[in-house]
Amino acid sequence: MTRLTILEYPDPRLRTRARPVAAVDDELRRFIDDLFETMYAAKGIGLAATQVDVHKRVLVTDVSEEHDRPLVFVNPEIVAKESVGTMQEGCLSVPGYYEDVDRAQRIRVRALGRDGRPFEMDAEGLLAVCIQHEIDHLDGKLFVDYISELKRTRIRRKLEKEQRARADQAARPRQPAV
Ligand code: ZN
Repeated sequence: MTRLTILEYPDPRLRTRARPVAAVDDELRRFIDDLFETMYAAKGIGLAATQVDVHKRVLVTDVSEEHDRPLVFVNPEIVAKESVGTMQEGCLSVPGYYEDVDRAQRIRVRALGRDGRPFEMDAEGLLAVCIQHEIDHLDGKLFVDYISELKRTRIRRKLEKEQRARADQAARPRQPAV
C-alpha cells in the first residue's frame, strides 16, 4: 500500500469535480487501499479521492476509534436527508482548523461497494456528516465554503504562509553535518 500526498487548501486542484467510476476493478481496489492507508496515517475519519488529486467519485470513511469500521463509497449519492444540526468539522486538507457547519444529521446514501455491488445505507450523526463532507470534496467543495468570508480568508492566508515556509525549508541547500 502507498501513502498518498494530501492536497491542502487553497490548492486549486481541490476544486475539481470528480468523474463517476465506470468499473470497480482491481486497480480501483488498490487505490481504495491506498486511500485507507493515507487516511489512517493522517488520523482522519474520512478521505475523498479528490484530496489526493485523483478525480474519481470514490471516498472512504472510518469513524470508529478502533479502525474497525472501514466503509467504501463509489459513485455515492444521497437519496434522503433530514434533521439539520450543527457539528464542528475539520478536514485533512485544511489542517488545524475546526468550524461549526450545519448539515443533515440523518441521511440515506446509495453507492457501489468495494466489490462493485450497489448498496444503500442509513447513516446518522458523525458518519452522516462525514459522508456529506466527503461527497462535497468530490464536487470540489470544502467545509470552509460554509463559513464567513472573513474566517475563510484568515484560514487561507495562514495556510498559505505555512505552505510557503515549508517550500522555503525544502529549497534550502543542506549543509553537510560535521
Ligand atoms: Zn475534508
